[in-house]
Amino acid sequence: MTIELTLNNGVTMPALGLGVFQSAPEDTTAAVQSALAAGYRHIDTAAAYGNEREVGEGLRASGVGRSEVFIETKVWVSDYGYEQTLHAWDKAMGKLGVDYLDLFILHQPAPDRFDQTIAAYKALEKLLDDGKVRAIGVSNFMPHHLKELLVATDIVPAVNQVELHPYFTQPDVQAANAEHGILTQAWSPIGGITFYPGWGEERRNVMEDPAIVAIAQAHGKTPAQVMIRWHLQQGRSAIPKSTNPDRIAANFDVFDFELGDTELGVIDALDRGVRNGPDPDVARPERFAMVIPEA
Ligand code: NAP
Repeated sequence: MTIELTLNNGVTMPALGLGVFQSAPEDTTAAVQSALAAGYRHIDTAAAYGNEREVGEGLRASGVGRSEVFIETKVWVSDYGYEQTLHAWDKAMGKLGVDYLDLFILHQPAPDRFDQTIAAYKALEKLLDDGKVRAIGVSNFMPHHLKELLVATDIVPAVNQVELHPYFTQPDVQAANAEHGILTQAWSPIGGITFYPGWGEERRNVMEDPAIVAIAQAHGKTPAQVMIRWHLQQGRSAIPKSTNPDRIAANFDVFDFELGDTELGVIDALDRGVRNGPDPDVARPERFAMVIPEA
């Protein structure tokens, strides 16, 4: 069982995918294999995660054909600019060991060099025209970034991948995406950024929220499964990360129950309106400068 979403250019994408941010390279091959064995057909990686090579190895080791798996990766900021982003595709291809991408997105707007962000997006348009990618998009774009992008470019992004979990639902971003026919894809869909270690002790772990725990108990499911179901029922794509085979499988075991409207509303009402991840309007020169190695 799965749910397919149709992007604004007609390409279909499995709504639920495996994320691999902070999956150590040595764990990533096995995680991808576990996911494909459990039924996932969508993997989300990024040049900046340093594990595209292992994603490709996992795909090949799985025995699942390339054309059956939706592969999404991201261009890092240090590769923004027209020629640089065309070359970022070569780097990604070399590491993944594939000859096309299903979805290629800009990792985030670069507020200190938005002209290069636009140039990078124009390179994505060229890659799309050339058949080297099946769809293009963005990540961490706020409505004003989208507005600036749309006036300067020709192709509306298919996807905007943003921080989105019950404690931070970004209704303004979801509305702007919907207005332009852009699919909202949730990163940290089960709230990883509210609890992963070393990111600040004052964070409140959405996984332990009593309302979510209660809904999970009512369905005999886990809080993670409830959050994934909440995304899917509201038409979003979600890409939960795990390197644990049992949790990878459990996160995909979400097609045998349904949340009621009241339950969806209870989860919506948990929004605190406070971002946990980096502010897309703030430049991070050191992080932006990270060099993405050649393949
Ligand atoms: P997440 O998927 O919401 O949560 C991941 C965390 O939850 C990990 O610590 C994982 O640990 C744990 N976990 C997974 N399944 C669980 C379960 N069933 N029960 C309890 N704990 C569970 O957070 P995320 O990794 O931040 O986001 C998901 C993906 O979104 C990333 O991997 C990446 O692909 C993408 N992302 C994109 C951006 C961006 O800027 N575009 C930023 C962040 C993330 P174990 O591995 O030990 O299971």
